[in-house]
Amino acid sequence: MSYVDEIIEQVIEKNPSEPEFHQAVREVLDSIRVVVDANEEKFRKDALLERLVNPERQIKFRVPWIDDNGNAHVNTGYRVQFNSAIGPYKGGLRLHPSVNLGIIKFLGFEQIFKNSLTGLPIGGGKGGSDFDPKGKSDREIMAFCQSFMTELCKYIGADTDVPAGDIGTGAREIGYMFGQYKRIRGLFEGVLTGKGLAYGGSLARTEATGYGLLYLVDELLKSHGNSLEGKTAVVSGAGNVAIYAIQKAQQLGAKVVTCSDSTGWVYDPDGIDVAALKEIKEVKRARLTEYKNYRPNSEYHEGRGVWSIKCDIALPCATQNELHLDDAKQLVANGVLAVCEGANMPTTEDATKYLQENGVWFVPGKAANAGGVATSALEMSQNSERLSWTFEEVDSKLKDIMVNLYHNIDDAAKRYGFEGNYVAGANIAGFEKVLDAMNAQGIV
Ligand code: NDP
Repeated sequence: MSYVDEIIEQVIEKNPSEPEFHQAVREVLDSIRVVVDANEEKFRKDALLERLVNPERQIKFRVPWIDDNGNAHVNTGYRVQFNSAIGPYKGGLRLHPSVNLGIIKFLGFEQIFKNSLTGLPIGGGKGGSDFDPKGKSDREIMAFCQSFMTELCKYIGADTDVPAGDIGTGAREIGYMFGQYKRIRGLFEGVLTGKGLAYGGSLARTEATGYGLLYLVDELLKSHGNSLEGKTAVVSGAGNVAIYAIQKAQQLGAKVVTCSDSTGWVYDPDGIDVAALKEIKEVKRARLTEYKNYRPNSEYHEGRGVWSIKCDIALPCATQNELHLDDAKQLVANGVLAVCEGANMPTTEDATKYLQENGVWFVPGKAANAGGVATSALEMSQNSERLSWTFEEVDSKLKDIMVNLYHNIDDAAKRYGFEGNYVAGANIAGFEKVLDAMNAQGIV
């Protein structure tokens, strides 16, 4: 049995009931098989893959907190410090009832390669809790965040592990956690990213994931002798990633004709009005049914349907598994050129395969949405030098990072004979840098 297959079997055997982690390991190891096969003897001797798939450390802790009625609750907190070969652990904190160790390990493992692709010195980690912030009062959220940080603060620091936001952890939660860290440790340092601008946050972090996605799409098209100018794009989602993806796509000359939320979707043949969308979603926090009040020519439909609209570029920016095989078939039939993931894992495995087999340029989220974590790393840099950069400085660095990232994954795919397969390119390019660092640092 090959070394890769042996390790995949081992991971399944040693980590039962962690299907998401198995899937992530399988996907990455399958892509890097060519690199491993070419170095099998050395890698086996050094137990390189065993060290790659076993987190350096995983911390699990009790989080007791008291609700507004005086009742105590206990949630479980996690921090998986997966790989620090190229820098301090970095990755978000997810607060959602579905959180368990397997999900945190899957996300932490993926984060190693995403962070490596940014070209910045950040290792991979992830954390969170099965706490559900929905329906909780502000005081309850604060009580939870303070209790969570009371334990977590023993294991993190600006030079060791720098968590960020994720699902359920927004600016409010980051603020409460930062306050508690500072209070206990007596340190004002860049221990968390996604902070408010008043206490060390970075300009352009809000826009970073959506803008970064479009910088990558722009470079992808240019490198194929094409451009965004005059193209029609469809976007799903109406949250942080989607809004700024639509805005940047329009600035770069494309017309974006759709957006969606969890109940329905909008088709605006004249191009989505970003100011209206921001007002509905960021200010009023309302449903997309409101959009028609701003744009009478638009259509609102219940349910799913974004991928049925004829387009050149498709950008899934809402949630996982939202673009299925049927959608992929429809997109191909309508002549789509590129599908680039703004969300994490929005395209199902069979849909991805179909798009790739039909010559569509498909860029996975690991590469396409890396602008978010890249800008978090820029927040760390600003905190370290105790300076704040202008919006333009951060934005221009973000653009350089995404342009380089595209060429990196494109080159890696070509070097190993997978030209145009950006999934393989992303996994190989991400792995190579981590591998170099792990080799240089000995068996640790
Ligand atoms: P938000 O919560 O801001 O927005 C998510 C959007 O998707 C909302 O409009 C939401 O609708 C919609 N949505 C959620 N579930 C569904 C569904 N089942 N069907 C259709 N629409 C749905 O999240 P973000 O924009 O921050 O994140 C989007 C994705 O991007 C996630 O996968 C996230 O992990 C990923 N990502 C985000 C980064 C960031 O910097 N924000 C960085 C890297 C990845 P509704 O308004 O009804 O809730």
